[in-house]
Amino acid sequence: MKIGILALQGAFAAHKRVLCDLGAHVTLVRTPDQLALVDGLVIPGGESTTMSMLLDSSGLREPLVHRVASGLPVFGTCAGLIVLASEIVDGRTDQEPLEVLDVKVRRNGYGRQIDSFETQLFIETGRRVSGMNGVFIRAPRVESVSEAVEVLAEVEGDPVLIRQRNVLAATFHPELGDNNCVHEMFSEMVAEYGRTNTESEQVRS
Ligand code: GLN
Repeated sequence: MKIGILALQGAFAAHKRVLCDLGAHVTLVRTPDQLALVDGLVIPGGESTTMSMLLDSSGLREPLVHRVASGLPVFGTCAGLIVLASEIVDGRTDQEPLEVLDVKVRRNGYGRQIDSFETQLFIETGRRVSGMNGVFIRAPRVESVSEAVEVLAEVEGDPVLIRQRNVLAATFHPELGDNNCVHEMFSEMVAEYGRTNTESEQVRS
């Protein structure tokens, strides 16, 4: 099972460290050929406007939308969530999201760099509730979500960790937290996807 980390721009190294600690086979993704080989993809924090442009120049946009639509688990953090969203408020006019996550999100919704903050989170990880510190850096603010979106953690009424089928997204940086519970959750989604694919391959052969 291979987990890719989109490495066009931004904070991909910390995700790599956490996933390697969890024993995952991790690879950096910069081209469509590399994307074709992964069973899950992390879209890290960084600058969503730049990432959006690089998705076009790398030729990744179309194959990525196609793979997410066919079930590839994807995990966006901070700028990564903005890239996945269906609607961006305060984006750049030429910034086009992938539209695979039914949320309306405001860029820098908690203010600028000076307004970055850390707070305790309680996260629904399926079987139990896990605690972790949430690190918010020029974070986006989720203003609304559709019924298809599950809210797994919130801060003062704002969704900060959400899931829509195979798409997991956080407005904070779980790779900088004091434990790995969100990455564990994503690794389980990837493992489940791997099992389903293997089963359907067996049915086909
Ligand atoms: N404010 C950044 C953006 O709009 C996101 C910040 C982050 O990823 N830490 O893309």
